[in-house]
Amino acid sequence: MRHIEHIFYAVGFVWAMASWPLAEALDGLSLLLTVVSVAGLLVMANTTCFAPRVFRASVIGFGLGIALAIPAITTIPWYALGGATAAFLVVVQGVGAGTARQLIHMLQMQVERDEAIEDHMRTIAALDSARRAATLLAETDNLTGLANRFLFMTRLDDLIARGEPFSLTLLDIDLFKNINDALGHNIGDEALKAVGGVLAACAEKDCFAARLGGDEFGIIASRGADHKGGADAIGQVKKGIADLRKRNIEIPAISITGGSAYFPKDASNRSDLLAAADMAQREAKKTRRGGHFDYSTNLTDTFRKETQIAQGISQAIASRALSLHFQPRINLSTGLVEGAEALSRFSGPELAGHSHEEIFEVAEKHGLGALLDELVLERYRDALVALRDEFSISLPTSVNLSGAILKTPDKLLAKL
Ligand code: GH3
Ligand code: MG
Repeated sequence: MRHIEHIFYAVGFVWAMASWPLAEALDGLSLLLTVVSVAGLLVMANTTCFAPRVFRASVIGFGLGIALAIPAITTIPWYALGGATAAFLVVVQGVGAGTARQLIHMLQMQVERDEAIEDHMRTIAALDSARRAATLLAETDNLTGLANRFLFMTRLDDLIARGEPFSLTLLDIDLFKNINDALGHNIGDEALKAVGGVLAACAEKDCFAARLGGDEFGIIASRGADHKGGADAIGQVKKGIADLRKRNIEIPAISITGGSAYFPKDASNRSDLLAAADMAQREAKKTRRGGHFDYSTNLTDTFRKETQIAQGISQAIASRALSLHFQPRINLSTGLVEGAEALSRFSGPELAGHSHEEIFEVAEKHGLGALLDELVLERYRDALVALRDEFSISLPTSVNLSGAILKTPDKLLAKL
């Protein structure tokens, strides 16, 4: 549409500008040329009336031409102008209107085609920006503005496919539930955003950061080859948070624990790499809260062993496969038995060869401590009754528990 409008602006203008000077120079022809000029406008009006925008363009163009040649117009008597125009119109209409209509019809179709193409382009642009907005939404964590888990996993896959070394670090805020409980969910959100901001700043360097969910974040650092990527990344995050707090920005004190695994040294696929970093992080939570741990193969052995022990404990609890053995306490100077300590013995193959301490520690870590304690107390009660009723033995005795049951004293007292 615009091309055609521009052409008609020019046609109208040139027509008018060309006509008037000619009319002035050739005095005898001035009337005729004047008439031709004005009639031209009318013919244009007639033939372009099917396309209002084209008509408007030609009228404006022609009007401009006339405005610049106004002195010449004043010399022409109005009746001569009008009469000649009418005569010219009759002739031109008769001869040229059909052709002109055809031409205009073609122009009209061209205009409609152009408009349809413009509409189409606008729709494509709108769809494209909607698609980009949807992609952004699908890949962004809406609280922190960082990449989300989905994008993080995609990035991991890309890097693994490229085969370049990198470090994967998982970060988790320590005791974040306490921040929520003590200061409220809103302050908790602010803390998450602050960590997100610090990670985004790190990400501008040579790492990629994402919020993986809850209070857990992930960093991929391409400097993994030197085996310091994870520690460097967590160092930067801690420094960033300390700087924020120094500037009196009201974020609560946050401690973060991280674990790292390295591609391709520790694992060659995504799930193994994530599992390795997760193990390192869990180990750090256990032994180095607020610090960082690198994955090592020993961790896999430890976790495998723990899982096996936890399974054994679950089975022992379910099948009540536990017995108590009394170890006497003897006063060496008198030789008399002064008491006894009740020790748990498990019968399942998974628990064979594992120490008492090891088993109770795993039970507590895996949330099985209270159940195990209940079972031990049941066995202890039965054993005390037997000692008293069957053997008439009355001795001070003690029993080992995981301690988990101490968190629910009512249950403990009921068992006792
Ligand atoms: P740990 O030191 O073992 O990590 O203890 P923790 O209390 O941090 O425990 P965990 O990491 O398992 O808990 C994460 C908590 O984060 C649980 C949930 O209440 C909280 N949380 C998850 N998403 C949000 C959120 O969007 N905003 C806020 N304020 N809290 C969240
Ligand atoms: Mg946490």
